[in-house]
Amino acid sequence: MTQGPEQTPRWQGGGTTLLCLRDGTLGLGADVFPGVPAERVAAAHRGGDAVDVNVFLLRHADGSLDLVDTGCGALYGEAGGQLVALLAAQGVAPGDIDRVIFTHLHGDHVGGALTEAGEPAFPKAAYLAHEVDIAHWRGKDSHGGRLLAACGDRFRAVQSGADLGHGLRTWLLPGHTPGHMGLHFAGGFALVGDLLHSLPLQLPDPSVHTKFDIDSTQASRVRAQALAWLAESGVPFSGSHITTTPVSPSPILRIARQGSGYLRSPL
Ligand SMILES: [Zn+2]
Repeated sequence: MTQGPEQTPRWQGGGTTLLCLRDGTLGLGADVFPGVPAERVAAAHRGGDAVDVNVFLLRHADGSLDLVDTGCGALYGEAGGQLVALLAAQGVAPGDIDRVIFTHLHGDHVGGALTEAGEPAFPKAAYLAHEVDIAHWRGKDSHGGRLLAACGDRFRAVQSGADLGHGLRTWLLPGHTPGHMGLHFAGGFALVGDLLHSLPLQLPDPSVHTKFDIDSTQASRVRAQALAWLAESGVPFSGSHITTTPVSPSPILRIARQGSGYLRSPL
């Protein structure tokens, strides 16, 4: 499905407009979900095992622009790297971005932060990440480590619950990575980063974790707590891999309790 600028999923509140830009898609095979029988994964993903890689553009009341994550860039070939074109379709050039807020420093979130020549892709933007994620990845031979090495002086370390201005507050959701974080929006919205990789598997059973979770026990505990809060508060939210499908046509959702898990409830 092509995503024209007028159909771009959006949320508005508290003076901020959020747009969900799909940078690409990544396939998640059965091996991604340790401990879940392959048949259960296949049944949950019978419509296909690709998940979207979402980047969020935030346009604030004063005209300033934040990005949440940067997608894959050139790291995964044709699978991703649509961000710059999608921004252009919104009339936004890379040089217009004021801040890039990273949910964490995995490749499909940081890949678009450097050009293929290794230069910062958003020339005037400050790069923000949780202090614990920066400490974890610094010096490592990983996409995040290489980004920190290339752009260290651009990075601002943020703390848990930090006020980022424009009604944004950081929401530490550790486990996927040690400093993995979401964002709370004062206008009544949340972003949850990589808290969820598969709605059909993890909404009914929040204990389902992925092989990408660095501390899977912590990730599952944090997912259970965060989903409980999202259901109780009724706050709409989205995330980096919340995927649009014919059954789930929007990457923005609310959830409600159902038994020991959750299901989508109408927006
Ligand atoms: Zn990740």
